[in-house]
Amino acid sequence: MKYCFGIDIGGTTIKMGFFTAEGEVIEKWEIPTRRENGGEKVPQDIADAIAAKCTEKNLKKEDVTGVGIGVPGPVTGDGTVMKCANLGWGEFNVNKKMSELTGLKCFALNDANAAALGELWRGGGKGLKNIVFITLGTGVGGGIVIDGKIISGIHGGGGEIGHIVVNPDEEDICGCGGHGHLEQYASATGIVRMAKKMLKSGSTDSSLKEKENDLTCKDIFDAAKNGDQTALELVDKMCFYLAFALSGVAATCDPEAYVIGGGVSKAGSIITDTVKKHFYSNNMNVLTKSEFKLAELGNDAGIYGAAYMTTIN
Ligand SMILES: [Zn+2]
Repeated sequence: MKYCFGIDIGGTTIKMGFFTAEGEVIEKWEIPTRRENGGEKVPQDIADAIAAKCTEKNLKKEDVTGVGIGVPGPVTGDGTVMKCANLGWGEFNVNKKMSELTGLKCFALNDANAAALGELWRGGGKGLKNIVFITLGTGVGGGIVIDGKIISGIHGGGGEIGHIVVNPDEEDICGCGGHGHLEQYASATGIVRMAKKMLKSGSTDSSLKEKENDLTCKDIFDAAKNGDQTALELVDKMCFYLAFALSGVAATCDPEAYVIGGGVSKAGSIITDTVKKHFYSNNMNVLTKSEFKLAELGNDAGIYGAAYMTTIN
């Protein structure tokens, strides 16, 4: 039996997973992310946690296929982090550094790309080879897997679906500094932003009006499910922009399925159904077989995908 480690580095905690190479999780735990001094302690902390687990389980180096590491920033195909503002990291090769520290093969990748691979291996995209994963949370992230491989691109910017321009006339600014990006409409913050604008215009008698000041994404989806017209319009608009962006993705890589995850996806099939409606009214009529699925692994998608990286390299 072979084993592997899947790691997901977040801004406050590092999620660790110990797996069989077949994809069964044996143990999950977390360690704190020590971000001080440009996150310099993070690599050693991870290496120490792995060494401790190997000792505890009495594992030899040859029993372990490797360590996969999801990083919250752009990572190129050879494991180079360009810049990781969340951790304070500058440019360096994570694969090389972590291999030196652990004595194991190490594979770094962007955290959303890791989640995409995780969903392909054990989640909503199980059994498929070509998926586009979209995570709808505070922001919008994504990962593109074609023929079982992540498309990370020259800058590690491949799959950054949240920053596709969907409305060049938008005046508000995206978190990245651009204008009219998908994230400004399809993230939890984005739909609330749209809702506040709509409620301010005053012409609505929506149930959302009474919560106007501390409105959440969940409030909007709950109201939509109760038939509130303004909320339904907002959900429709959000899904329209998502489908609009995915039409461009479809014309670029034509995946078997779009797998939608992240906190916003807890709203369920109202999202996949509405996106699907707009996608199919908007597209080349040959693209009829692509499916729209909900992600299944939640916050664990990243450790699954990172672990999977060690078995395909
Ligand atoms: Zn942006």
